[in-house]
Amino acid sequence: MDLTFSPQETAFRDELRGWLAANPPEPEPADGGEDAQFTRRRDWQRRLYDAGWAAPAWPTEYGGRGATPTESAIYFEEIGRARVPFAANTLGLLLGGPTLMVWGTPEQKERYLPPILSAEEIWCQGFSEPDAGSDLAALKTRAVKDGEDWVVTGQKVWTSGAQYSKWCMLVARTDSEVAKHKGLTYFLMDMEQDAVQVRPLRQITGEAEFNELFIEEARISDANVVGGVGNGWKVALTTLMNERAGLGFALQIRLRQLLDDLIASAAERGLLDDPLYADALAELHVRCESIRLLAWKGLTDTERYGQPGPEGSLVKWLWSDTNQRLTQLAVDIVGPDALTVGESWSYELLRARGNTIEGGTTEVLKNIIAERVLGLPRLKVSA
Ligand SMILES: Cc1cc2nc3c(=O)[nH]c(=O)nc-3n(C[C@H](O)[C@H](O)[C@H](O)COP(=O)(O)OP(=O)(O)OC[C@H]3O[C@@H](n4cnc5c(N)ncnc54)[C@H](O)[C@@H]3O)c2cc1C
Repeated sequence: MDLTFSPQETAFRDELRGWLAANPPEPEPADGGEDAQFTRRRDWQRRLYDAGWAAPAWPTEYGGRGATPTESAIYFEEIGRARVPFAANTLGLLLGGPTLMVWGTPEQKERYLPPILSAEEIWCQGFSEPDAGSDLAALKTRAVKDGEDWVVTGQKVWTSGAQYSKWCMLVARTDSEVAKHKGLTYFLMDMEQDAVQVRPLRQITGEAEFNELFIEEARISDANVVGGVGNGWKVALTTLMNERAGLGFALQIRLRQLLDDLIASAAERGLLDDPLYADALAELHVRCESIRLLAWKGLTDTERYGQPGPEGSLVKWLWSDTNQRLTQLAVDIVGPDALTVGESWSYELLRARGNTIEGGTTEVLKNIIAERVLGLPRLKVSA
């Protein structure tokens, strides 16, 4: 990939940079907790949307700018540089929308894409279950056809943002007679029905970012099947590929900022001359640069093949490992503040624990890289 920007790319960057400078988000709410934070992120997405900056990578026909992969990377770099909040509907923008663009019917695209962009309807991802996380195809939530509807019963877990969501990307079993990957179907489930109960799960950070979903005979119209009955595995893979590629790019920029903050903290404390700290920070710097270049390389593949490839798993693995190392080092550099409730380093340290689990565990990502990137033989587990 040529990392020199063309005049068009430079103009794109300058326009966005100018807009971000002239339109800062509202300040962080002093109190009000997670709901107030979410409202701020929703307002922020609406402002991005009004200015045409909610999802520049989306094609113009769906309300985006038709940005190239390089422009899309510039977008994430600038959004990161400006330290603005994540859009409220990140899962809709990065996962749900792109999945519908590949697999949705024209009616589904027309109905669902605009309110994703405007943050009018928030989306969540109902894949994981108590006994089906890494082995997603083992899921047990069942959908049975009843006239024009499907009736769904089961339990989902770790559903981020479900408490704010109107739509859930739900994978359920519609056929238990065939091989487990073949019996799955991908639905859009309306969360606003009594048959869907959302119960918060509190994390080590104190927040309840994710939830359990209890689904007891929820109804989903047949028109909300995405990609055809029995094709849920392939549709879910499109969602997961977009998750690793899209989020990976945004997160490596956040990693760089955290490292810059940590280097500044070390400098304030006169620790940069200490060879132990200098060595640890330099190693993190090299990792950050490698991850950044790998993320850019991933864009080349997207440009070449039209969709993200399994290499996104490499960025996700290295990012999560490096973020955990970085936040551990912060404890040594910053001292007790990094262990005090309410301090930002303490939050970063605790939140980082989930990085090697969310969006695919490190072990599973390593399997993907071994088999699908390096072409090594598949793991055989003996009974
Ligand atoms: C912050 C956060 C947010 C999340 N948000 C969502 C969400 O919005 N929607 C959603 O559906 N899910 C979400 N998840 C769930 C996440 O995708 C799962 O936790 C993850 O897929 C792992 O599944 P599991 O927890 O069932 O662990 P398991 O799959 O039971 O894994 C347990 C352990 O076994 C290892 N393991 C499993 N299989 C293999 C294998 N084949 N080879 C080697 N090792 C293996 C794993 O690496 C892990 O260490 C979220 C998780 C977190 C932490």
